[in-house]
Amino acid sequence: MKRASTHDAIIIGAGPAGTSAALALARRGWAVAIVEKSAFPRRKVCGEYISASNLALLDRLGIGDAWRGEAGPEIRRVGLFSGNASIEAPMPGARSRPAARNGFGRALGRDILDTLLLDAARSAGVEVFQPCRAVAIERDGDRQAVRIQATSGSPGEEGMTLRASVIVAAHGSWEPGPLPSQLGKQSRSSDLLGFKAHFTGSALPPDLMPLLTFPGGYGGMVLADRGRLSISCCVRRDVLARLRGSLARERGGHVPAAEAVERHIMATCRGARDALADARLDGPWLAAPPSS
Ligand SMILES: Cc1cc2nc3c(=O)[nH]c(=O)nc-3n(C[C@H](O)[C@H](O)[C@H](O)COP(=O)(O)OP(=O)(O)OC[C@H]3O[C@@H](n4cnc5c(N)ncnc54)[C@H](O)[C@@H]3O)c2cc1C
Repeated sequence: MKRASTHDAIIIGAGPAGTSAALALARRGWAVAIVEKSAFPRRKVCGEYISASNLALLDRLGIGDAWRGEAGPEIRRVGLFSGNASIEAPMPGARSRPAARNGFGRALGRDILDTLLLDAARSAGVEVFQPCRAVAIERDGDRQAVRIQATSGSPGEEGMTLRASVIVAAHGSWEPGPLPSQLGKQSRSSDLLGFKAHFTGSALPPDLMPLLTFPGGYGGMVLADRGRLSISCCVRRDVLARLRGSLARERGGHVPAAEAVERHIMATCRGARDALADARLDGPWLAAPPSS
């Protein structure tokens, strides 16, 4: 790794916010660096649905055609699965909108979307430092210095310092950390914790995107790319603790948070249960903030 480098802007985080900002600046001739702690492709807690109104933006970012080539089926109906009730309606505006290029929203896994965006940024000349974590931001004369550390796991690998007058903190809001932009959080019982999984072999109609409600939380399901169903949800911290506690007592041992969430949804939301009855988990459940 080089030990020091100077740019016009340093962007911390290669989610959609970071890569979009990087692309916009690089196309205006700025020298831009992105620092991303995870190796891509990586999955992320997210519903992965993008509405039709956002597709013009993907075109401007230069990934519209690639997104259309990869994303799941068009979502023409919205639904609500709550308790034993399942209701649905046409996607608002879909009837009146001409069946144009951007007629309906679709879902694409964040492992694919974020990689498309980062590749586009790289092609626009953005220098990518990955997997590298930004560990400090300090003033350095009329610039800011960002210290970064490789997260590749190679012990003893040296860190380096990047300098720029503009720093964009696009690292998301979930994780605590040492950066001045990572604000301290107090844990509250009403906090909503995020969970997400992919399943294959679901029975969800491919054009339907239901909102799910269940005691203590809500979420959504949608068919994304390659036949993967994306399910994501938020659950109150206190409800999750109660669910885990009663399962642990039943079983006499530790119960992972995601397992408690999945069982809770399946027990209380018939539409979700029907959609996932014969489905198989595709990769592990993810949590935000990460939990065990
Ligand atoms: C349950 C749930 C469902 C959702 N469903 C949808 C949906 O269907 N459609 C939709 O449009 N939005 C959805 N969202 C919202 C969407 O996920 C966020 O708006 C989006 O991820 C925010 O993007 P971002 O680029 O700001 O941050 P993120 O996507 O969080 O990206 C931040 C990046 O920064 C990196 N990073 C963090 N710290 C550091 C560091 N110190 N150094 C280097 N890198 C770092 C992370 O690894 C990550 O790649 C959902 C959110 C949740 C919680």
